[in-house]
Amino acid sequence: MRRVSVFGATGSVGENTLDLIARRGDCQVVALSGGRNVARLAELARAHRAELAITAHEECHAELKSALAGSGIEVAAGAAALIEAASRPADWVMSAIVGAAGLAPGFAALAQGGVLALANKESLVSAGALLKAEAARHGATILPVDSEHSAVFQALVGEDIAAVEKVTLTASGGGLRDWPLEQLARATPADAGQHPNWAMGQRITIDSASMFNKAMEVIEAREFFGLAPAQIEVLIHPQSLVHALVGFRDGAVMAHLGAPDMRHPIGYALNWPQRAPLPVARLDLAQAARLDFHLPDPVRYPALGLAWQVMETGGSAGAVFNAAREAALDAFIGGQIGFLDMARLVSLTLESFARSDDISREPASLGEVLETDKEARRRAAALVGALPRCGAV
Ligand code: NAD
Ligand code: MG
Repeated sequence: MRRVSVFGATGSVGENTLDLIARRGDCQVVALSGGRNVARLAELARAHRAELAITAHEECHAELKSALAGSGIEVAAGAAALIEAASRPADWVMSAIVGAAGLAPGFAALAQGGVLALANKESLVSAGALLKAEAARHGATILPVDSEHSAVFQALVGEDIAAVEKVTLTASGGGLRDWPLEQLARATPADAGQHPNWAMGQRITIDSASMFNKAMEVIEAREFFGLAPAQIEVLIHPQSLVHALVGFRDGAVMAHLGAPDMRHPIGYALNWPQRAPLPVARLDLAQAARLDFHLPDPVRYPALGLAWQVMETGGSAGAVFNAAREAALDAFIGGQIGFLDMARLVSLTLESFARSDDISREPASLGEVLETDKEARRRAAALVGALPRCGAV
């Protein structure tokens, strides 16, 4: 039996992962983690006969314990319990917690020397170099789960990365892509929380509308594949059927196509290095009829350009960028700032670090990254009050 754990099991990626694990029928589920949705976590733990269920929140411990009473499933709660659970022997671990909270459990899982299927892009953006060094130290493999990165990874099988000229990540343009520019400042979290093609968690859906998600993915691609910033390009592709393209030095371009369903990249990581049948819709190009592409408008998507600024700075800039983005998203969801203020807030936070800190120095430890993350959130929160109101809801 293959031993597998899923962190962020109650989320959109987590649920899809468990669906595929159950279909394989050859996996022993070690640990499942969730947040405040304790009833769903307990249900999943029972259905998949997990050895251990962990809620990230100490105050939910008693509720989870009572929901799993008599099941024989071990129960734990809190950040330290998540790390302990990730340290338990497993061959395959899914990292699908949303946000920087996924960083430490992912790190701990690498010490098993198995496969870390990484949906949590925040880990690579905040601590890419450290994460890769930890994987190398333990002989662990990090596999991409983000659909675009899985697409690039698949296009690179058997190829020499030195022969790559350019990687193109596609973007749907998000839920507000057809809105008139002058209305964007007044978009609400409900408006931005609609996605035209993908069913995902609320936070990544809003990040898709602002293209903060794509900015994260550009940095993620640089880290995963060791690309120079100038080798990465983003194109808006409203149909979301082409997930990424890799251009080689002989002029050939390999594109990865498929229906927009996260069970494809999750399943690829689960079955890797083989391919196994997956319950995803088959691509019907005759029915799709057309594939459109265009360059993103920097005025509509001010967040996207910040990715190149962060990559040029290097060092801790990724950790500052991610933490400030999470703080900006919280402020937007909480009604404190407007949709377009998110990019301004992140830009101002990056500036504040550029003025006063040695931001371009590589962080030496995970602890240092977490300190930077905390400080960036503190500064971003302080800047929320100072931001001239621009269409806040
Ligand atoms: P989601 O919001 O649906 O689920 C998040 C999961 O993390 C839940 O299990 C939740 O309980 C848990 N969680 C939330 N806050 C936590 C905390 N502080 N500590 C511990 N656990 C916590 O999110 P999602 O859409 O499944 O995304 C998960 C990750 O995968 C994100 O990093 C996202 O960027 C990435 N991703 C998602 C998709 C997608 O299609 N949903 C695609 C590509 C990448
Ligand atoms: Mg993606």
